[in-house]
Amino acid sequence: MSATEFEVDQRDIQFVLFEQLKVQDLPNSSYKDFDRDMYEMVVGEAAKLAEETLAPLNATGDRHGCKWDDGEVTTPPGYKEAYKTYIEGGWQGLSIDAEHGGGGLPKPIALAVVEMFTGACSAFVMYPGLTVAVANLLSRMANDWTREHILPKLVSGEWSGTMCLTEAQAGSAVGDVRTVARRDGDSYLLEGSKIFITSGEHDLCSNIIHIMLARTPDAPAGIRGLSLFIVPKYRINEDGSLGDKNDIYCSGIEHKMGLNGSSTCTLSIGDNEGAQAFLIGDESEGILRMFSLMNEARIGVGVQSYSVAAAAYQSALAYARDRIQGTRLAEFKDAHAERVPIIDHPDVRRMLLSCRSQVEGMRALGMTLGYYADQYLAHQGTPEAERYMDLLEVLTPICKSWCSDQCFMVASQALQIFGGYGYIGEYPVEQYVRDSKVFSIYEGTNGIQALDLIGRKMGQHNGRSFMATMNELNQRISALGDHPELAEEQKALEAARDRLSSATMTMMSLGMGGKMEVAASHACDLLNLFGDVVIATSLAEQARIASSRLSELSSEAGVDITDTEARTGWLREDSEARFYARKVDNLRFFAHQFLPRTAGLELQIAAKDATVLEAVL
Ligand SMILES: Cc1cc2nc3c(=O)[nH]c(=O)nc-3n(C[C@H](O)[C@H](O)[C@H](O)COP(=O)(O)OP(=O)(O)OC[C@H]3O[C@@H](n4cnc5c(N)ncnc54)[C@H](O)[C@@H]3O)c2cc1C
Repeated sequence: MSATEFEVDQRDIQFVLFEQLKVQDLPNSSYKDFDRDMYEMVVGEAAKLAEETLAPLNATGDRHGCKWDDGEVTTPPGYKEAYKTYIEGGWQGLSIDAEHGGGGLPKPIALAVVEMFTGACSAFVMYPGLTVAVANLLSRMANDWTREHILPKLVSGEWSGTMCLTEAQAGSAVGDVRTVARRDGDSYLLEGSKIFITSGEHDLCSNIIHIMLARTPDAPAGIRGLSLFIVPKYRINEDGSLGDKNDIYCSGIEHKMGLNGSSTCTLSIGDNEGAQAFLIGDESEGILRMFSLMNEARIGVGVQSYSVAAAAYQSALAYARDRIQGTRLAEFKDAHAERVPIIDHPDVRRMLLSCRSQVEGMRALGMTLGYYADQYLAHQGTPEAERYMDLLEVLTPICKSWCSDQCFMVASQALQIFGGYGYIGEYPVEQYVRDSKVFSIYEGTNGIQALDLIGRKMGQHNGRSFMATMNELNQRISALGDHPELAEEQKALEAARDRLSSATMTMMSLGMGGKMEVAASHACDLLNLFGDVVIATSLAEQARIASSRLSELSSEAGVDITDTEARTGWLREDSEARFYARKVDNLRFFAHQFLPRTAGLELQIAAKDATVLEAVL
């Protein structure tokens, strides 16, 4: 692979799917017709589409951007053809239930596919991406008519979906939405405006289904007065055929720092006769229903984050192997010493390991959340389902925030590995940095996610969800006990876990002592600390499996891995052994070079310092 090419890390994806999560053994009866061969085939075909069809669109989409003309939006060259290939290949409904026309595949498989497509061209995936979440929402909550006439078209990708919350005065403060919904017979007429709507208008589909928050005239103020509506771009006749254009108009698109191939639209709603809309559920239940869409979209942003981070890392790795610069440190005084690739320099190795351990930890977390979602469905009505939902509730804001913050750091570090060449347009890495900044902003800024974690999720069900998560993390750490070769790492994880417990107690005491604002000022610190421990335990799971496999492989090969020379020679020859050795290295690096920062975060919280509230700004 060269540093300008995009290549999927299929081996690591397969490791998470088949060796860590063991999706081939999922108990859900809906998967009984699938097997590992079939899953591998899907992953292989998706990698091909990502590398051959989508990756070439990434730079062109960035350069051309979308064009707006009198309410219509044209996507960048090549997007239409790629979208056709995408929907004809049946990729859109991959994990949606077969009863709704989807492929019915396990979620981790669908997330693996999303990762590959997103890494190849994140702006393109914004169009079909939210549609899946909209389809899932409608499959759970919509009435029969909608399920019959709208859902299948979203599942097939013939139509697309959006999520419309934001208005000029209602960004993080969603409760300040002003778009008004007035009853009109069986439906409603909406009037207002929305900004920043991803895929709010484009030329890839024949209709767009907007899922929109609005308030009825007599609804209470704030978040509890919001209702959720389906607002189609083209009205839909009783028999499901397309009617006239609805009264919704794209009055402009944003010019952005990144994701230029994705349209970000301002929508004027009901400027004339009112936009026809259909209520989902009951009035004033909107935010509860929207949460189901938002939670899925938040995990989606986590996935989007590690997809781009993985692409940036792969590119930097290829560059570091090729770029010759300087000599080995020990020979720097010798003007004739051999010139070496920068991957030999300790600082570059540090950056590469930092990127890799984070990317692989994030990938494991994202796919594990998909696995929990499947397990939740498979265990409906049992305490196990409750436990999986608890884990999902607590880990969703962590996945969204930790992954998006770290994605930007990874992309920036990958750029650093390129030196000056990273800063110019010749290599894709500067685009990864620009594209990824927004991940920490949309779907609820990371500041809002942190408040959600400390204010809602950690106390949820009297702390049950939090305890379920801590139990899960504890189990992963204890499991390292069977691996004496990982004893030092286990100690590092235990120490970080204890810091998390202690910081949580401090936050609780601040809350109970009436110092909510001091606690709120540390919400991001706590989320970061929590995320560090979560990612470390994900890497621990992987290292445990990898260490066992390394032992098996070394005995099969007759290699004594305690003999450094023999081990090095063996790893040079055997790519599978190298893969597992890297997994163990990831844990070592993260435990010793990353987790020490949890001590700093704990101290920051323990200080209960109110300077941020009292300081003059
Ligand atoms: C490219 C792009 C695509 C988008 N796509 C969509 C979409 O499809 N649908 C949609 O509805 N919206 C979308 N958005 C909007 C996005 O979700 C909002 O930008 C985001 O929620 C933040 O709102 P805001 O921009 O108004 O910032 P503000 O809410 O003004 O926030 C500004 C800063 O203040 C902080 N802040 C605000 N309130 C609080 C608080 N109570 N406590 C602590 N900190 C706070 C925030 O964390 C942030 O750092 C998109 C935005 C972009 C840029």
